[in-house]
Amino acid sequence: MVKVEHIGIAVKDFSKSIPLFESLFNTKCYKTEQVASENVNTAFFLQGDTKIELLQSTSEDGVIAKFIEKKGEGMHHIAFEVENILDEMNRLQSEGFVLLNENPKKGADNKLVCFLHPKNTNGVLIELCQEIRTID
Ligand code: ZN
Repeated sequence: MVKVEHIGIAVKDFSKSIPLFESLFNTKCYKTEQVASENVNTAFFLQGDTKIELLQSTSEDGVIAKFIEKKGEGMHHIAFEVENILDEMNRLQSEGFVLLNENPKKGADNKLVCFLHPKNTNGVLIELCQEIRTID
């Protein structure tokens, strides 16, 4: 894995949390994006090289809504950048980790993503992400 690409934080209400994190980081949210397949809105902040991704559910039974119901707002996942997501998925699977996605799917911020089941990672939800490269 190359580096921590971003840290995902589950929040209830962007209208409260975006100003809160803008004030915390002393920087503006630079992008918001809806990820329809995941029923989430995302909002991004940059701190040095590391992005912080706020996640707000767009549906009552979405994964983020369920997470907040169980655990409350807070740290949701850590995303690692990888060179080749398929290679890394194969490697991790052969090491006994359980993938939550059989195939990489399109995430926010022009990324292919795959999540690992937290039961095999000491309870930490880990996301692999690879920049979608356009072949030219
Ligand atoms: Zn993420």
